[in-house]
Amino acid sequence: MHSSSTAEAPEQKSTGSFNPVLLSFGGNLDGTMERFERALRRLSVSGFKVLNVSEPLVNPAVGCEPGAGDFTNISVLGEWNGTPLELLDLTQSIEIEEGRPADHPHWVSRTIDIDIILMGFQRLDLPRLKVPHPLASSRDFVLTPSRQVLPPDLMAFLEA
Ligand code: ADP
Ligand code: MG
Repeated sequence: MHSSSTAEAPEQKSTGSFNPVLLSFGGNLDGTMERFERALRRLSVSGFKVLNVSEPLVNPAVGCEPGAGDFTNISVLGEWNGTPLELLDLTQSIEIEEGRPADHPHWVSRTIDIDIILMGFQRLDLPRLKVPHPLASSRDFVLTPSRQVLPPDLMAFLEA
């Protein structure tokens, strides 16, 4: 049977099989919700169709520098008809616009982090992009808001 695995041809234009897309936003510096709102607008005007946005989840910073403020996380469900790497380019350009240096170290306070958690049921293992996001299934701050916006079959795929 012909395989339609997109992992073999990640650059090809999506025909919908990468959808829906689940993004996770996080941040723990002043103005996080305003940053999230600007990021959602920027995604929308750049071709990412926002379908559903979770309530914000506020949770303590774990593993950050001492005294780091609480994180706020939201999950965003949407549709993207470009390639996965075009979406990553877009989310990374939004992170930089919002004041996050491109060489930002892991595990320190950040203005905004946008992770691509799922692209439908696809699995991608590219140097710059792993989908499903490898740490998502062990992060309550991703799973809890995602339950509000994800269809049950994709939620089961994410938690598997
Ligand atoms: P974290 O999100 O764990 O705090 P970073 O955002 O600093 O880590 O990691 C960014 C790097 O992760 C980028 O270089 C990006 O190419 C890579 N990356 C791999 N898979 C993904 C993904 N699914 N979503 C976002 N970035 C990813
Ligand atoms: Mg990230």
